Amino acid sequence: MSKIDEKLEPVLDQVLRRNAGELEFHQAVTEVLESLGRVVAKYPSYLENALIERICEPERQIIFRVPWVDDQGQVHINRGFRVQFNSALGPYKGGLRFHPSVNVGIIKFLGFEQTFKNALTGLPIGGGKGGSDFDPRGRSDGEIMRFCQSYMTELHRHLGEYTDVPAGDIGVGGREIGYLFGQYKRLTNRYEAGVLTGKGLVYGGSRARTEATGYGAVYFVERMLATRQLTFENRRVVVSGSGNVAIYTAEKITEFGGKVVACSDSSGYVVDEAGIDLALLKEVKESRRERISEYARLKGDGARFSDTGSIWDVPCEIAMPSATQNELTGRDAKALIENGVIAVGEGANMPSTPEAVRFFREAGVLFAPGKAANAGGVATSALEMQQNASRDSWTFEQTEQRLADIMRRIHDTCASTADEFGTPGDYVLGANIAGFVRVAEAMRALGVI
Ligand code: NDP
Repeated sequence: MSKIDEKLEPVLDQVLRRNAGELEFHQAVTEVLESLGRVVAKYPSYLENALIERICEPERQIIFRVPWVDDQGQVHINRGFRVQFNSALGPYKGGLRFHPSVNVGIIKFLGFEQTFKNALTGLPIGGGKGGSDFDPRGRSDGEIMRFCQSYMTELHRHLGEYTDVPAGDIGVGGREIGYLFGQYKRLTNRYEAGVLTGKGLVYGGSRARTEATGYGAVYFVERMLATRQLTFENRRVVVSGSGNVAIYTAEKITEFGGKVVACSDSSGYVVDEAGIDLALLKEVKESRRERISEYARLKGDGARFSDTGSIWDVPCEIAMPSATQNELTGRDAKALIENGVIAVGEGANMPSTPEAVRFFREAGVLFAPGKAANAGGVATSALEMQQNASRDSWTFEQTEQRLADIMRRIHDTCASTADEFGTPGDYVLGANIAGFVRVAEAMRALGVI
């Protein structure tokens, strides 16, 4: 396992000191700095002008109060965040997360990862992330709308199609983006479609954006499997989560001939040996917004729900963690390896703990890190911005073809970068170095900013 190069230790020390207690941010920075030892050994000039220190420090962090009124007339206060991490390659771009676990450290880790992910797409987008500790679960439509309106009432002054372009993430889907865009339009008196992505089709959204992150992750893993002459055909797959990323990951796997045998939410997981019924999953999760146990109840025979143990104990050949950060631990990785897993593709951001990643690498399991494998969502967001700027609307097939090409290119960039730096097959290193180099080159060209 790589360690931090001694020349980069002061950078990490500063990050740990300056962002005390922000464990997820520490974890994300540590992983990237571990990969950069080989880069600074080959190209020491990246150590000049505090370039790496600047990459680890967000350009701007915005924290604000979000007051809103519930259906009973009770006033609530949540905290809103937007971390504008790096704009060397384009306007800040990255989703909004509404979940009670959100704090500035989580948003910072996501914004940091986003910067490299966006660079890997090859498209002109910088990195940012935002959200709130608001819990949308159990809230009525009216409450969600009033919360979104209040959130945007503060955030709008920091956004713009050339400045910062948010999208969805956990707890923020098409409905929320609609309310956020409506309020932005009302406050600014501008129909600036390119200011948010993940919009509905009737008001400037892109076809295939809903499917993009999940489909993209499967395209990436397909390409990775092909390096060992393997495919999804007839493979048992476990996909954690049952939100946007998980559902469309499962859909594309099924289309490629794989069998998804389990999925989950924060209340537990379901196992369906016949293969997850996608129409039923969408009905339960997208239409009714119910718990995953409802899937097993409605499916009846053959499907079972469990609220104890781990979804990663379900035997599979391919695992695609698609729920949240650090959901797959060292213990889970061991169980997967013992059960014969051959590939892991991260649909979520940083879902595997550092220990889990180490076990996968040591066992020779093909491992696709989130910042590369889940880049299809933001890439398609950038395609949505292109369509908005040219007042155009592409077909589903056209958009999906662009997505597939981008994902295969990201895969090949990660693979060739890993080769170049003497670690063939190490997609973590390949993704971190390739993303870093693109951001660093742009920052160098722009001077000390
Ligand atoms: P959704 O809100 O649509 O779905 C999230 C899913 O994960 C739900 O099933 C949720 O269950 C489950 N989940 C969330 N938190 C936890 C937790 N603490 N423990 C167990 N399960 C949990 O979000 P997305 O599908 O959009 O996002 C999933 C992941 O993918 C995140 O890491 C996100 O950052 C990443 N991602 C998303 C992109 C996108 O385009 N949407 C793009 C790139 C990455 P429950 O409903 O019970 O909370």
